[in-house]
Amino acid sequence: MMDKEIINKKITKKEMICIVCPMGCHLTIDMDNLEVTGNTCERGEKYGKEEITNPMRVITSTVRIESGIHKRLPVKTSIAISKDLNFKCIKLLENIKLNSPVRSGQIIIANVFDTGANIVACRDM
Ligand code: SF4
Repeated sequence: MMDKEIINKKITKKEMICIVCPMGCHLTIDMDNLEVTGNTCERGEKYGKEEITNPMRVITSTVRIESGIHKRLPVKTSIAISKDLNFKCIKLLENIKLNSPVRSGQIIIANVFDTGANIVACRDM
């Protein structure tokens, strides 16, 4: 009976640590009205709401490269994109094969999945 009560209990608050800056404020988000508490600044409020409604992440990975000093080149999205696109993005990058030289910051894929983010090289190679 006790277990059932716990399972059926509605989650009304979610706790998380804000990762926007090194202060790492402990946020509490009310799941009913998305009110954020525990944040020291507005960026924390935005982060907390976004984590509940549409979490965003900078995606990092590697792609194959020919004639470079290594066989794979580190790449990332230029800005954070929806976390839901992470797997799709990694799959897309599996089919990319570059030729050296590539410059740090060079766009590998522009406007990936219409997000406004580019996939860019993280180093010269
Ligand atoms: S709430 Fe503001 S001060 Fe606190 S960790 Fe987030 S960004 Fe930093």
